[in-house]
Amino acid sequence: MAVAYEAVIGLEVHVQIRTKRKMFCNCPNTFGGEPNTVTCPVCMGYPGTLPVPNMEAVRKAVVAGLMCSCTIANRCKFDRKSYFYPDLVKNYQISQYDQPLCEHGKLHIFGKGFSGEQLPDRYIGITRIHLEEDPGKSTHFANCTGLDYNRSGVPLMEIVSEPDMRSADEAYAYLTSLKQIMEYADVSDCDMEKGQMRCDVNVSIRPRGQVEFGTKVEVKNLNSFRSAHRAINYEIKRQIVALESGEKITQDTRGWDDEAGETIVQRTKENANDYRYFPEPDLLPIEFSNEDIEKIRTELPELPEAMRKRYVEAYGLTEYDAHVMTLDRALAKYFEAAAGKSEYPKAVANWILSELLRILGEKEINIADCPISTDHLAELVGLIQKGAITGKVGKAVFESMFAEDAGKSPADIVKEKGLSQVSDEGAILQMVEAVIQANPAQVEQYKAGKTAVLQFFVGQLMKQSRGKANPQTAIKLFQEKLSQ
Ligand code: ADP
Ligand code: ZN
Ligand code: MG
Repeated sequence: MAVAYEAVIGLEVHVQIRTKRKMFCNCPNTFGGEPNTVTCPVCMGYPGTLPVPNMEAVRKAVVAGLMCSCTIANRCKFDRKSYFYPDLVKNYQISQYDQPLCEHGKLHIFGKGFSGEQLPDRYIGITRIHLEEDPGKSTHFANCTGLDYNRSGVPLMEIVSEPDMRSADEAYAYLTSLKQIMEYADVSDCDMEKGQMRCDVNVSIRPRGQVEFGTKVEVKNLNSFRSAHRAINYEIKRQIVALESGEKITQDTRGWDDEAGETIVQRTKENANDYRYFPEPDLLPIEFSNEDIEKIRTELPELPEAMRKRYVEAYGLTEYDAHVMTLDRALAKYFEAAAGKSEYPKAVANWILSELLRILGEKEINIADCPISTDHLAELVGLIQKGAITGKVGKAVFESMFAEDAGKSPADIVKEKGLSQVSDEGAILQMVEAVIQANPAQVEQYKAGKTAVLQFFVGQLMKQSRGKANPQTAIKLFQEKLSQ
């Protein structure tokens, strides 16, 4: 009989902190540039230099920790993690070992997994967030390796989760939420293409119902959420096949080959002992009083979770719409600005989620560069809601605001183009009669009971009126006329 297995997943995510300067020196913290042009004796590890902690980075790590409901240590220290690798100039990395800055947090996951399936919302535990410095970057060519130390010393957080996830989809949702929170907190842009967020996944399986965890395998350096999702599913399957055929899982560190779609053993697991951790002698411990921490807490931005709740309660959005609206902080800001200027916030939300997102997607424009101001969007929605223009005309005006009428107010566009809604019954009646006269065959069908042709009549009338006729009035008049 085949055993049913359950996956256990924990993630270790590295996030670069966006600061003006590097973690322990005065070099600017920038991305790219000619290799080895953004370095100094400190981040190049020259003997005799001394590191000085960047308090902007420390403060942002505290913000990140608080956003993830962590306890912030009143006192924490730095340690040296020793290993040899060409991109690690000092042969040790300044990190934190037994006294991390943040511990015991949690992250709310909500929304869809990679497969698009709606997940139950729940919390994933965060074990710790510690501060460290990024090493340089190796690039492997055909027969040599290039080393770029511009990244050496960039402030980095390692965010370690509890082994709380049970599927690749949950891990995907966790990564999505984490990225979202870092963006909200203004801590990092989390641009994975620039290596600002990197992820290692730990995967084990156990027979369903068993309490103890199985042996875990770590897959390192996944550089997209999609590859993390694929690597986890690959490992789950690989481990099940191995166990079923009587093999033992070894605690490997593996790499991910995205093209082949498989994980490859890199080495068997190293222990903390191998790193010879010891307290960094060149740095003092970092201290935070409870008052310091509370002060930072009062300055925190609203969590996406709280924002979603508020959108549901204050504006009547559905849970899901509120989720989509808050995925991107810039979109949420745009919505709030527009909703604040409108008597119809729910209708504003609907316009943003359908029309605005569609057109931005088509034209590949970021919401931050949206050519329609929040004032104009609120005004447009108001014109439609008040019946000054029809929904159909509204869409046309909206399109034109992205094109020939960019920057103009919707009310002015409506005036210039003569698009006001025609609600005058007399005027619409004339059009109704004209449509009836021009389409005797459809009138026959209608009278024979095929009332669906009403749509056709209204369509014809809308064409004639260039979308300006009040559709409700038109329907009413058609019904009256045709039943005579
Ligand atoms: P290590 O000492 O190997 O670094 P840790 O205990 O620090 O291991 O855990 C590293 C990561 O692995 C954490 O995210 C943790 O949640 C996860 N993890 C620990 N044990 C397991 C397991 N049995 N299965 C899956 N993930 C695990
Ligand atoms: Zn430097
Ligand atoms: Mg560990």
